[in-house]
Parts: sequence; structure tokens; C-alpha cells
Amino acid sequence: MIIHQHNNEGFSGNLANLLKTNDDKEGRSLRKVIATGSLLNILLCAIKVIGGWIGNSDALIADGFHSLGDFATDIVMFLFVGISIRKATAKYSYGYGKFETFASLVASALIAAIGVTLIVEGSERIAAFVNGAILERPALWTLGIILAAMLMKECLYRYYTRSGKKLGSSALCTIALHHRADAFASLATLIGVGCSIFFGEKLRILDPIVTLVLAAFIVVSAIRLFIPAWRELVEHSLPASVISQVRSAIETVAGVKEIRTIRSRSHGRYYIFDIGISVAGNLTVEQGAVIAGKVEESVARAFDRPVMVSVTIGV
Ligand SMILES: [Zn+2]
Repeated sequence: MIIHQHNNEGFSGNLANLLKTNDDKEGRSLRKVIATGSLLNILLCAIKVIGGWIGNSDALIADGFHSLGDFATDIVMFLFVGISIRKATAKYSYGYGKFETFASLVASALIAAIGVTLIVEGSERIAAFVNGAILERPALWTLGIILAAMLMKECLYRYYTRSGKKLGSSALCTIALHHRADAFASLATLIGVGCSIFFGEKLRILDPIVTLVLAAFIVVSAIRLFIPAWRELVEHSLPASVISQVRSAIETVAGVKEIRTIRSRSHGRYYIFDIGISVAGNLTVEQGAVIAGKVEESVARAFDRPVMVSVTIGV
């Protein structure tokens, strides 16, 4: 029998402390990081596409379009991140996290479209080569552009990782990994273009082959952006390790007889838990409410990110 339904309202004081990371200053820092990344991405896009076009390298153009895809992601993130970290309001009582989820889904679709376009173009050039066409030799200076791009991406990886950890934003840490993957993609471009320059007409096939490899990576990155966003959209449960952390947190509270249910989902930067426990039948409503409050507090303390907990008590 459910004798008491206790939710966040009674616990708002403590949650407000945990939600300090949602203030405007943190939001500005987050937007600053993304703005820096997006400016460098569009700069890289321009340099690579123009450089690849003048310097006869399709691989460099593909690398440039990859940066354009990254820029599109940044813009979507930038527009929505200011909304996603807003505090919950009467209109959106669970907060604005799903806006970020939506942004990720849109960005993954854009990136996938770019990847598929490049696969088609690379394949056409390989077909032309197989049919006897001689591909043009890329210019030597294109290698300089690629090296500079790799260096810039490694710096961005470090900047994003540091900021992501500081701000507790998993989205930033994910984009950081992407920056490092970009550096590796440019390494493939470097090898492909280098061979096309130095090792004769036959090896110029490497330039469109690298284009295909880069395009495949673009498609993979789209899928990797899509999966977690999709799971959040359809309210996939949180990992078993998180659930066992919740279980341990509940077990430390005196008076909890049994844990009946733990339902979980993520919502932007929030973990949301709906917990059902049972207590001794002879307790008063007030005693039950105190236990529920302690359970919420204990679970919220177990995580270093914003958490929403709702506890239902039965006997
Ligand atoms: Zn990228």
C-alpha cells in the first residue's frame, strides 16, 4: 500500500546546491568553449576546401567538408546548449535537457548526409581512375595545411577535455574525443596526399581512397552521436553500474525494509530516478516522509551531476 509519495519539492534546498553548475557563469563558459571550437572548425573548413581545390587534393577537400559537418554540429549545440542547461521551470518541470538531445539528433542527420555525399564522390573518382583517367598531382604545400590542422585539432582536444571535466558536461567530453579523431583523420589525409605527391601517377589513387576512408569515419561519427541521443529520447535505462550505485545509496538509509523498484533515465545532464521502497507498517506518515527524504538526499549525494529523485513508500 502506498502511504506517501514524496518528491523533489520537499528537497529543493539540497538540490539547489547540487544544481549550482547550472548558473549563468557556467553557461557562458560552456558557450565560450563551443564558440571557440566552431570558429576554428569553420576556419579549418575554409582553408582545407580552398587548399584542396587549388592544390588538386580531393582528400583534403573531403577533410574540409568533414570540418563543415563539425561546424554544423557546433552551431546546433551552441544554439541549444544555452537552453539545455537552464533550470527547470513551470513550463518544463524536468528542465530543458531534451533540447540538447534533439540538437544531437539533427546534427547526426546532417553529418551522415555529408558522409554519404563524400562516399559517392570518392567512388566516382576511383571509377574514373580504373577507366584510365590520370588524376592530377596534389601540390606540395597541401601537406603544410594538413599538419597545421592536426596540431590545431590536438589543441582543441585538450581544451575541450579540460573544460568538459570542469563543467561536468559529457557532451563536451564527447566532442573532445571527436577533435582527437579529426587529428587522426588528418593523419590519414597526410599519408594519402603525401604518397600521391611523391610516388607517381599510380599511387594518386590513394587520394580518393583516403576520401572514402574519411567519409566512412564521418558516417561512423554520425552514428555515435545518434545512439546516445536516441537512447535518451526513448528513455533507455541507465547502466547497471549506476543502478547499483543507487542501490548502495538507498541501503545506507536506516528504516528502509526493501527496495521494490528503481526506474532510471537520463535527461540532458540530469539523472532521473523513480524509487519505490517499503518501510515498517507501524510508522507514522511523518516518519515515512523523513525516511523518503533521507533516501533522496543519499541518492543525490552519490552522483556528481544534477539528479532528480522521487521516492514512493509502501509497507
Ligand atoms: Zn570532425
